[in-house]
Amino acid sequence: MHTIKITGVVAAAKRAREKLQGGIAAEHVDDFRRSVTRTITEVERICAEYKATPAQLPSASYQAYQFLKTLDLAKLPVRAEAADPAKPEAGRVRIKNLLPICAWAQGEINRIVTTAPSLALPVAIDRPDVAALLEFLTSNADIAEKICVNAKATPAALPIQSRQAYQWLRYLSDPDNLAAHLATLAAFRQTLAEPFWTEHLRVRNMHNAHTVYIDLCYSNVLYRFTATTKTITLRASEGFSGAPPEVIEALLRAAFTPGQTAAKSEVQAYSDSDDFLEIIAEIESLAEPPLQQQRGQHYDLNVVFDRVNALYFRGLVERPRLTWSTMHTARKMGHYQPHADTVMISLTLDDARAPAFVIDFVMYHELLHKQLGTQTVNGRRYSHTPTFRAAERRYPRYQEAVAFMAAMSRARTG
Ligand SMILES: [Zn+2]
Repeated sequence: MHTIKITGVVAAAKRAREKLQGGIAAEHVDDFRRSVTRTITEVERICAEYKATPAQLPSASYQAYQFLKTLDLAKLPVRAEAADPAKPEAGRVRIKNLLPICAWAQGEINRIVTTAPSLALPVAIDRPDVAALLEFLTSNADIAEKICVNAKATPAALPIQSRQAYQWLRYLSDPDNLAAHLATLAAFRQTLAEPFWTEHLRVRNMHNAHTVYIDLCYSNVLYRFTATTKTITLRASEGFSGAPPEVIEALLRAAFTPGQTAAKSEVQAYSDSDDFLEIIAEIESLAEPPLQQQRGQHYDLNVVFDRVNALYFRGLVERPRLTWSTMHTARKMGHYQPHADTVMISLTLDDARAPAFVIDFVMYHELLHKQLGTQTVNGRRYSHTPTFRAAERRYPRYQEAVAFMAAMSRARTG
C-alpha cells in the first residue's frame, strides 16, 4: 500500500476554520466555496490516481479532508461587514505616506540608539532628539487619525500595512512605550558589543564593513534577518520591546547564526508569553473600531463585571469601559487599556462552551491590571509583577481556569 502525502490540506482546513469563526464577508462567500471544493476535488483526484481512498491519508490530512467535506457550503456564516459602519471595510481609507514616515522614524531611532554617548538604561526621554522624535511620531499619528475622521472612519479602515504603520506610530507616541522601545534597542546593541558577538560577527565577516540595523516594528512577522553586502538588518516584532536579556540573546542567536533550534524555540515561547501578547493586544486595540458592545450572544459584560467586582473586589472597582473584541483570538483572551480605561474581552469567550468561571477569571485578571497598574524598573515596564501573580492565584478556580484556556488555545491553534 502506498503512503500518500498531500501537502496543503491541513493548512486549507485551518484557513477555512479561521474564516468560519470570524464569519465570511458576503463578497467572499463564492471564493470560499470555490476554494473548499477545489481542495476536496484535488484530494480525491490524487487519491484516485494512487488507487487509494482519503481514509488512507495520514490522519491529520484525513481529518482536514473530512472537515472540509462535511462543511455545509449552502449555509455559511455570512458577515454583513461592509454595511456595518462600526466595522469599516479595510482599505476604504487610504493615506499615502505612512510607510515612508515609519521608515524615517526607524532611521532616526537607529541613529539615536547608535550615537547615544552612553547606552545606560533607561534612555532619557527628555533628550532633545528623543523629544523631537516623540513629537514627530505623535503628530503623524494625529494627522492619520484626522484623515480617517474626515472620511467618517477610524484607522481600522486603512489597508493592513498602513493600519499597522499607524498603530506603530500611535503606540510609540506614548512616552513610556517609546522609552521601553529605545531601551530594548540599546540592550540589543549592548549585547552585540560583548566579546562573543563582536568575534562572532567578525568571523562571519559581518562587522565593520557592515552597518547593523535592528528595528522593532509592528507586522505579522515575528522576526526577519536580511543581509546585503553593506548592511545587516534584524527586524523583530514590537512585542519584544521590554524583553529580558536572555530573550534578546536568544533572538540574536536565532537570527544571526545557523541552526540554533533551542534559541528559536526560546524566542517562540516568549512570543506566547503574557508580556509579549500584552504589547500586541495594546497595539491591536489602537485600531479597533470605536465600538462598545457589551451584550454578547451568551454573556453580558456588564453582568460579568458586576459579579466579579462584587465577589472579588468588594465592589470597589470603578466600572471601566467594557467591550468585546471585534475578532476571535486564539491565545489572548482579554486586555486592559489604561489610557482608555477599557477592558476588552475576546469574542472567543462569548460562547456557550466557555464556562462562566473562565470568563469571570479573564475579567478578574484584567481588573487586577486596572487596580495594580504597571511598575517601571530601569525603563522596563512590568505588568505581571509578583504581587499581580499572587493576587491572580487567589482566584478560587485559578488552576482550572488556566487549564481550560490552555486547552481552548490549543484547539484553536493546533
Ligand atoms: Zn495580563
